[in-house]
Amino acid sequence: MNIILLGPPGAGKGTQSAGLVERHGMKQLSTGDMLRAAVSAKTPVGLEAKAVMDRGELVSDEIVSKLIDDNLAAMDAGTGAIFDGYPRTAAQGEQLDGILAKHGRSLDHVIELAVDVEALVERITGRYSCGNCGALYHDTANPPAKDGVCDACGSTEFKRRPDDTEETVRNRMEVYRSETAPILPGYEARGIVTRVDGMAGIDEVAGAIDAILA
Ligand code: AMP
Repeated sequence: MNIILLGPPGAGKGTQSAGLVERHGMKQLSTGDMLRAAVSAKTPVGLEAKAVMDRGELVSDEIVSKLIDDNLAAMDAGTGAIFDGYPRTAAQGEQLDGILAKHGRSLDHVIELAVDVEALVERITGRYSCGNCGALYHDTANPPAKDGVCDACGSTEFKRRPDDTEETVRNRMEVYRSETAPILPGYEARGIVTRVDGMAGIDEVAGAIDAILA
């Protein structure tokens, strides 16, 4: 099973991917996570991508498609892939079709997380993660059970993404509207798109996604 989670920044793609990994043993392929790792490691890709990411603009199609290709090449054929934050342009969508074919895979579902854009700004500017294990939290919607302590690993170190500021978020929304949303009709024509209400609670959204995959 290979699926795309599509939706604007803050729609819940990362949170839902983590749930799918846990419940179904799929692998999350997040180009945003891969790029952030490259930035931290100061690789050539990371050095090139950092300024673009900080502005909320898109890294080149060639760079992100190569990351996806390399990651799929290293994966077990039987493990399902969740594409999170990729594809983001029409060119990436075409490249993904080629990459999937090369690895003997095909696309089963595109799940669109539909959300209210204004609410997203609050969602994004309130989110943070565990600095040790990466578990995801939110100031109001999803705080850890014990204030300041990660539920998953007990760490007390947390971090926020440098591009989760209001100005960058608004720019990322606009990029989604102009570059990414236009790729949906092509998938709709293939009959593989299902829309899920991304404003519902985390468990409810997870249930809706599981129903699609069942
Ligand atoms: P994300 O974690 O998916 O919100 O991605 C964070 C940032 O990484 C984006 O704002 C882009 O600058 C960059 N990025 C992530 N995925 C892609 C992609 N598929 N194409 C181009 N840029 C990307």
